[in-house]
Amino acid sequence: MSNEKYDYAEKILVKLRDNAKEQTKTVGEIIGVTNHPEAVQGCGSCSVRGMARITENGQTWIGYCCRGKSIEELPYSGGVTCGKCKRQQQGKRHGQHNNAWGICDNCIFGSGSGEEIIEKSEVDKQLKTVRAAKSKLKKSKQTAAEKAIPYINAGLAESFALAIARGTDDGEIMDLWESDWWKQYKDDDMLIVAVLEGRLTEDKGKYLNSIRSDHERLALTCVEDPEMIDWSEAILNSGFNKVPEAVNDALDGGQPHIIARIRKMKVNTELLPPALDKPVLLKKPPPHMQEEPQEEE
Ligand SMILES: [Zn+2]
Ligand SMILES: [Zn+2]
Repeated sequence: MSNEKYDYAEKILVKLRDNAKEQTKTVGEIIGVTNHPEAVQGCGSCSVRGMARITENGQTWIGYCCRGKSIEELPYSGGVTCGKCKRQQQGKRHGQHNNAWGICDNCIFGSGSGEEIIEKSEVDKQLKTVRAAKSKLKKSKQTAAEKAIPYINAGLAESFALAIARGTDDGEIMDLWESDWWKQYKDDDMLIVAVLEGRLTEDKGKYLNSIRSDHERLALTCVEDPEMIDWSEAILNSGFNKVPEAVNDALDGGQPHIIARIRKMKVNTELLPPALDKPVLLKKPPPHMQEEPQEEE
């Protein structure tokens, strides 16, 4: 998860925590104890013998020992035989063994008004997890910056050193560093970024750079989707190389052989790639390629 997502999760949890109501009902209040005369009985919850009252469902007796306890005072979570609804499901109980007498989560959290009671302690647990993951992520980022330092000190540009520190193949990064073709670009150029992030090999980056001046849209389409490189090579080799507008017609989804015939181009039909399934538009075109919104008359 990214930092922003952790921040978002933390914000939601803090809000949830502020609105969380604490479960204030006692064991006796949740289960329901009748006014039936008291008798000496074993307590359904803790088994201690003493003055007890029968529960509303007529199933067990519950002593003074447990009637006033808060739910947090039942030490075990897990399967219970619920003293209120009689079902066997997840809940809280006094006894250690599974499915001992207890109160199920439904009966604990269902307040009867349809309002869900969220336990603050549960939210706190989740908050702790999110915060731990967040600080771990921060540490790993620091480590990337730290790992980059010796390469920067040795003379490598920061973006290249960081790419190596983040785990991009160092051979590819150094191939790029030692070549000249990228030096005409800023290091936040989308083609350079794709190589630095390891989405393109230096070799493919160099190829796309070579076609970029004549076929910018095609080159950048391949930067966004490297699987387009084969199609790109095929259409340029077939004869479209000399007619950039025709390449754009094909990127717009036109059948290459029809476009070639309309534009009266000489092409090698055997090399022509198939038409694209649908027009391919750049997802993030650079500013100079963004179309002006057309004014309506
Ligand atoms: Zn008890
Ligand atoms: Zn229940």
